[in-house]
Amino acid sequence: MKGSVFFSLLALLALASSFASAYDPSPLQDFCVGVNDTKLGVFVNGKFCKDPKLVKADDFFFHIMEGNTSNPLGSQVTQVSVNEFPGLNTLGISLARIDYAPYGLNPPHIHPRATEVLTVLEGTLIVGFVASNQNDNRLFTKVLNKGDVFVFPFGMIHFQLNVGHDNAVALSSLSSQNPGVITIAKAVFGSTPPISRDVLTKAFQVDQNIIAYLQKQQWYDNN
Ligand code: MN
Repeated sequence: MKGSVFFSLLALLALASSFASAYDPSPLQDFCVGVNDTKLGVFVNGKFCKDPKLVKADDFFFHIMEGNTSNPLGSQVTQVSVNEFPGLNTLGISLARIDYAPYGLNPPHIHPRATEVLTVLEGTLIVGFVASNQNDNRLFTKVLNKGDVFVFPFGMIHFQLNVGHDNAVALSSLSSQNPGVITIAKAVFGSTPPISRDVLTKAFQVDQNIIAYLQKQQWYDNN
């Protein structure tokens, strides 16, 4: 009898432990290399906090300026992450204003730490995102007008093109205080130092001269 109670307890314990789960916190920056000497440390995760007694209403206030779209892409992303707006620290949210000249493009990019909800405030945009290989790289695309909202799920490659004759404006809401941006063409062809030409020639299945040409371009950062 004692033995059977022992074994049922053991079985219960095994069951309980199979439900135990651990979860890594989402990173708040590109990398955070561990150090043993605390004197060498800079950030723990995100920023230090201001003494609550010293916090003012202005710490929760921000004014976004209109972006200058006179650049090769004809678009400007004005990011309001925790780096610009410290009041967002630990809140898991941030935003951006995107200005587009006529035919301005916010080129294909990803956010390594966030989902993005885009709201069109002015104008007409073609937007889209490409799903992962697992979903056969399906393109989900739509024409958006004033008041329309579209979501770019976490980590998906996405873009917006102003197809109207006038300027366009959109507001992005992002599910991280520091979403980060990787502009695909700039990252692949404009990295420092450059990725080996052999890697890119084989990856893109094109002539070496095409890769050389692309690597020579100035990849404008509209962020
Ligand atoms: Mn985006």
